[in-house]
Amino acid sequence: MKKQSNLIGVNRLRLLLILLAVLLLAACNGQTPNTAPQQATDQGSPTGIPTAGLPSPTPAQTTQALATSPAPECTSPAALTPAVTEGPYFKASSPERASLIEAGVTGTQLTLTGYVLTTDCKPVAHALLDFWQANAQGEYDNTNYSLRGHQFTDEAGRYQLDTVIPGLYPGRTEHIHVKVQAPNGPVLTTQLFFPGLTDNQSDQIFDPGLLINIQDNGDKMQATFNFIITR
Ligand code: FE
Repeated sequence: MKKQSNLIGVNRLRLLLILLAVLLLAACNGQTPNTAPQQATDQGSPTGIPTAGLPSPTPAQTTQALATSPAPECTSPAALTPAVTEGPYFKASSPERASLIEAGVTGTQLTLTGYVLTTDCKPVAHALLDFWQANAQGEYDNTNYSLRGHQFTDEAGRYQLDTVIPGLYPGRTEHIHVKVQAPNGPVLTTQLFFPGLTDNQSDQIFDPGLLINIQDNGDKMQATFNFIITR
C-alpha cells in the first residue's frame, strides 16, 4: 500500500515537471514577437545609424527638386507655344540627361523648370524634351554632345533642365533650342529667350511668347517656362 502511494507521488512529480517544462516553453515562445521588431530595425541600418535622419536617395531628391516648380499658370484654352526655326546645329541621338553641366562646361548656371501642358491645361506625362545650345562662348559642339541632352516629363508633366546661360554668336541673341513632343504626338521645334536683353530686339527669330520667366538672378539663375503643345 505504501509502495503504491510512493508510485503515485513519483507520477505526480513527473507530471509537475512536464507541466513546468511546457510552461517554460510557452514563456520562451511568447518573447519571440517582442524581439523581432528590434532585429528588423538593426537590419535596416547595418551601421546602427537610424535611417530616418539620412538624406533621401537620388530619385526622391529629383522629385523634391521638381516639386519646387510653381503650379502651372494656365487658362484653358491656352495658346500653343510658338514654333520657330530649328537652325543649323541640331544633332539627333543626344544623350538622355537632365543636367548638361559636366567637366569643361563653364558659365553662369541656369536651372530651368516647368511643365508640358495641352491647350486645355492638362499635363503631358512622358513628353520628350530635347535641348541643345551654344556654350558660354557662343559655340556649338557639333562633334560630340556637349550642352545637348534629352529628357522626359514626369507623371505631372514636369521637367527640369540644369545648364549654363548660352553665349552670343553673330546675328543672334541668347537662346536655347528645344524640341518638345508628346508621346506619339507632333514635334514642336522652338527656342527659348532671355528677358531684358537689347539683342532680342534685333534678332529676326525672337518671339516674346518664348521668354523664360526668371525667378532668381543670383549666381545660379532659376527660371521657369511652360510649353503648351498638341498631342
Ligand atoms: Fe542657335
